[in-house]
Amino acid sequence: MAEQNIPGTGSGYDPQKIEEKWQKRWAEARVFESEADPSKPKYYVLEMLPYPSGTLHMGHMRNYTIGDVVARVKRMRGFNVMHPMGWDAFGLPAENAAIKNNTHPREWTNKNIAEFQRVLRRFGFSYDWRREISTCAPEYYRWNQWFFLRMLERRLAYRKKSRVNWCPKCCTVLANEQVVNGGYCWRHEDTLVESREIEQWFLKTTAYAEQLLDDLKQLEGGWPERVILMQRNWIGKSQGAKVKFVVADVAGAGAIEVFTTRIDTIYGATAVILAPGHPLLPKLLEDSPARAEADAKLAKMRQASVKTEDLATMEKEGFFTGRYALNPFSGENVPIWVGNFVLMEYGTGAIMAVPAHDQRDLEFCRKYGLSVRVVVQPPEGEPLIEEKITAAFDEHQQGKLVNSGPYSGLSPQEAIAKMAAFAEQKGFGRSETIFRLKDWGISRQRYWGTPIPVVYCSKDGVVPVPDKDLPVLLPPNPKLTGMGESPLASTPEFVYTTCPKCGGPARRETDTMDTFVDSSWYFYRYCDPHNDTAPYDSAKAAYWFPIDQYIGGITHAILHLLYSRFWCKVMRDLGLIMHNEPAARLFTQGMVQKGGVAMSKSRGNVVGAEEMARKYGADTGRLYTLFAAPPEKDLEWSEESIEGSWRFLNRVYRLVERHGHAVRRVKSSAGDLTGVQDPERNLLRKTHQTLRRVTSDFESRWHFNSAIALIMELVNEIYAQEPLEECVRPGAMKEMLVIVTLMLAPMVPHLAEELWEMLGHSDGLWQERWPDYDPKLEKEIEVEVVVQVNGRVRGKFLAPAGLRESDLVERATSEQSVAPHVSGKRIVKKIVVPDKLVNLVVA
Ligand SMILES: [Zn+2]
Ligand SMILES: [Zn+2]
Repeated sequence: MAEQNIPGTGSGYDPQKIEEKWQKRWAEARVFESEADPSKPKYYVLEMLPYPSGTLHMGHMRNYTIGDVVARVKRMRGFNVMHPMGWDAFGLPAENAAIKNNTHPREWTNKNIAEFQRVLRRFGFSYDWRREISTCAPEYYRWNQWFFLRMLERRLAYRKKSRVNWCPKCCTVLANEQVVNGGYCWRHEDTLVESREIEQWFLKTTAYAEQLLDDLKQLEGGWPERVILMQRNWIGKSQGAKVKFVVADVAGAGAIEVFTTRIDTIYGATAVILAPGHPLLPKLLEDSPARAEADAKLAKMRQASVKTEDLATMEKEGFFTGRYALNPFSGENVPIWVGNFVLMEYGTGAIMAVPAHDQRDLEFCRKYGLSVRVVVQPPEGEPLIEEKITAAFDEHQQGKLVNSGPYSGLSPQEAIAKMAAFAEQKGFGRSETIFRLKDWGISRQRYWGTPIPVVYCSKDGVVPVPDKDLPVLLPPNPKLTGMGESPLASTPEFVYTTCPKCGGPARRETDTMDTFVDSSWYFYRYCDPHNDTAPYDSAKAAYWFPIDQYIGGITHAILHLLYSRFWCKVMRDLGLIMHNEPAARLFTQGMVQKGGVAMSKSRGNVVGAEEMARKYGADTGRLYTLFAAPPEKDLEWSEESIEGSWRFLNRVYRLVERHGHAVRRVKSSAGDLTGVQDPERNLLRKTHQTLRRVTSDFESRWHFNSAIALIMELVNEIYAQEPLEECVRPGAMKEMLVIVTLMLAPMVPHLAEELWEMLGHSDGLWQERWPDYDPKLEKEIEVEVVVQVNGRVRGKFLAPAGLRESDLVERATSEQSVAPHVSGKRIVKKIVVPDKLVNLVVA
């Protein structure tokens, strides 16, 4: 740290002064404001909108810096750029904080928004603040309600009684995805989630299951493969068949329908296994000898809900119901069991266990001593022997059927078609495609969310609130306790209303919407944030959409993105838009870690964004987060490297400070290179080579870190030739400094503007285009090098000028015409004339 210029000493580079100055100029010149204009090419870059809670730390800033660099580069490239920012402002933390501090959630939220806004402005992010939205504003959530009503009209919103995950601490329903670690609340990792049955509102995401899956193809190349795969698995399409097993020994119990993707293995089914919540179970257990034992086991199984991704690894538990069911193909009675790994929400809530051909079934059957029967033999190798199987043979569509009555000898593929047809003909089964994707339960028993716009009338039932009465406003003074049903239910002035249909007394729905509703379409509102007659103007959306670059954390790879894709398709079918997918490209940035773990307030390892700006300036913070790691990788925070970034910016500042005066009035030009000598020639070449590589790092793969490294290297080479004025003409000097400044502009925009001014420009850098490199200048000069061995010319080759001695010798000895004269011999002497001659003496 030998550098003179320590942050805060006020000499030379003063980021506090510079940053404030340029932020003011940009705002005055309205540099970042853009309007839909079909005559210009557009670019819509967006970072996922933040939840305004806690303190903005450098983990957040990395995300916004990446987005800002992209926005600024695209502006310099001549695009009409939209880069907006807003707030995901509804949600539990506001409500919990309000309960704790006895304030209103709105107060807490607005305070946080003001704070977030201040810090984002301090970092100079190029947002069009006129487009700012806040999802808790009635002008916004009104349109959530409007969309809900449209979905209600199209039966895409419906109400049903359903079993839900209930967190006793949150006192609200949780989505399946909010149940983590095999049954705990995502917010309360020590609280087991319970299962309860209540009336809920659902959005019919399953109506779009096929499209949500198919359209993933359109996103290939633009979205990370990993995210596409996660979405595909979440939607979880399976082709198979449903088959009925009639309950054999309980009169009137009917049949158990199982779903299987392998009907061809049905002769190998040695049990039927039900989900713990299967509706037939009480009847089966009624007079069963297994009854007493069953109750205790069921209670345990029902307590925690199971997530599909845990199924493969979880310990399989089960018990025998004492009952049997008839396999409709083999005519055999098989035992009916209950298993914790069978989910009521998937398929029919019942499976047939085929242990020889399904690993999960095998583990279960071995554990409980159920028999194993081979019905498909592999195409090659040793035939399977039932007693010895440790791994199920579950290769799809391979091998031949055995022990399968009239189907023996068929391939699995032939058998699947024939058996499904037979089942259909006999009326006990049919082919079917099922999805893992469920409808989206949106009811939440909390205050701080969008009220669901329906009323309940004793005469008319469920009555939608008419559009003209939207928004249904949240009551201003709720009683928030965090307990029991929705706080809206204990606010009489909200609950009691009149029926829009008959005018009689009615009650309002008191649940609010899941906050994922808010974030499902917010990016459309940015196109037209103040529209009070529609969610947005379709022409504006048609111009700006799809989003050209969406940036956010991998944590949103499933839910937020799936719900927004669903919403997009609904809006398309409502005629609001024409496209199928909201975002053409998605980027998921790495995390910022400190001490090996992600920065988070609860871990106490955050580096506050504001503290960073105060100490080093926003530009150093921006540069560091870009330089420390490639954007997709995790970044380990290092105070030393920040010092490095700070020193680099100081070096650039001093370079321009030293030479700015000399070049202010000069035209920036490299001019004609004839007669120009090194080091000027060399520096110009290096400058244009750097520009070419930095351009490609920005455009194609976002290698911001390597772009910065290249610029640092260039600056070092320029420094190495000091005093510059003695060896470089002013026009060329200006050219180099201008290019360095423009290359830095997207990353450290405040400093770049200041340097631009120091170089004699009176118009802001923000009006500048990205420079083009000069192919003539960046090209290496080639020289012809002659190779002699023991004094005789043996060959010649072309090489870039200025190659090092060792490189020249290596090139010389590997020349085809030279190699025979040196191979197997010892080189006793090398005489090298740079750029001209390699003379080797061998013995
Ligand atoms: Zn909870
Ligand atoms: Zn009525």
